[in-house]
Amino acid sequence: MSTLQGPWRRTAAGAGLLRPDGSIAPTIFAEMSALAARTGAINLGQGFPDEDGPVEVLEAAIDAVSAGKNQYPPGRGDPLLLEAIARHQHRFYAIPVDPASEIVVTAGATEALAASILALVEPGDEVVVFEPFYDAYAGLVALAGARLVTVPLRWPDFRPDHDELRRAVTDRTRIILVNDPHNPTGRAFDQETRELVVELAHRNDAFILTDEVYEHLMFSGAHRPIAALPGARERTITVSSAGKTFNTTGWKVGWLIAPPVLVTAILTVKQFLTYVNASPFQPAIARGLDLGEDVFAGIARNLAEKRDVLVDGLRAAGFAVSVPDGSYFVIADARPLGFADARELCVSLPERAGVVGVPVTAFVRPENRSDYASLVRFAFCKRRGVLESAVDGLRRLSI
Ligand SMILES: *Cc1c(COP(=O)(O)O)cnc(C)c1O
Repeated sequence: MSTLQGPWRRTAAGAGLLRPDGSIAPTIFAEMSALAARTGAINLGQGFPDEDGPVEVLEAAIDAVSAGKNQYPPGRGDPLLLEAIARHQHRFYAIPVDPASEIVVTAGATEALAASILALVEPGDEVVVFEPFYDAYAGLVALAGARLVTVPLRWPDFRPDHDELRRAVTDRTRIILVNDPHNPTGRAFDQETRELVVELAHRNDAFILTDEVYEHLMFSGAHRPIAALPGARERTITVSSAGKTFNTTGWKVGWLIAPPVLVTAILTVKQFLTYVNASPFQPAIARGLDLGEDVFAGIARNLAEKRDVLVDGLRAAGFAVSVPDGSYFVIADARPLGFADARELCVSLPERAGVVGVPVTAFVRPENRSDYASLVRFAFCKRRGVLESAVDGLRRLSI
């Protein structure tokens, strides 16, 4: 059957994935990864690391499997991990969290976002997101039957205009979804914007849903969670994940932190999505979260060096670059090289430079794509030698 029925149609349409004939289109990520595989080009399109993270974390998982932690863990998560998450929030952000009532372990940040949106949003409600946005947001909001409202982040500094943010949040807003540090722009929000989000959530009785999967991948200064702001905790669901911090994206261990009443509501959804997940990986991530500050600083420093290799290389190749504050990603503008259409460039980039990137329009709703037409997202969560080869290839663009 080529056409979609039911909520899937709404999801695909909301995510801009429906073809005119009603069939679902492959995502740009699948398309670009297939292109990389076909051409042998270096894949800087998808954001997954190409080397392992801390060995303590890997060994703890092996130990857990050997010790028989292979059956369903408790519904909220393994107490070892719940307690480690609470310690982590206290150690890094001075936020007190009750491990027994305020945390749920999820199948990655993705399930935490899905369960939160499905639990808290009624059909017709509005969810405010900053655009460009992580591709799952539009799909999840559509699956809940809600309406996506976007606030633009504009090249080159990608800071939201506060008046536009004020206009986007109304009494129809159920959730303000904040991805900080932000994918795909790499921008960390400034404190004034975070405070305005809290103020607007209060004024309009909305929830704040934060996606902080890049919390430890900051290149200057520490991450500041919205939940640490006065008046925020009572209406904030903080979502994070171990995948990006510890190079364990395939383990899909994430979590959410929220007041007990919200946790109860979200658990009622989560129990019918996955019930539980990742039994032996949960104590392993607990081990990771308890690692010393030097380890976390080393993870960020290592990634910052990779960022610099790619940023310098993109500039040398002739791109204009928006230098990211954090995350795996950098956005480059292809206009100085004479390319107005990043999608066209991305399709020919394997041949021209032996590299794959993703056009930023993949993170933007169809009606707003013209504002982002010349921008490309590149991932730098790759081994240094791989990035250096990519940079060598990109240099061919300017010759
Ligand atoms: C990678 C990513 C996720 C997905 O996290 P998982 O833990 O793999 O589900 C969610 N949000 C953003 C912004 C991401 O970049």
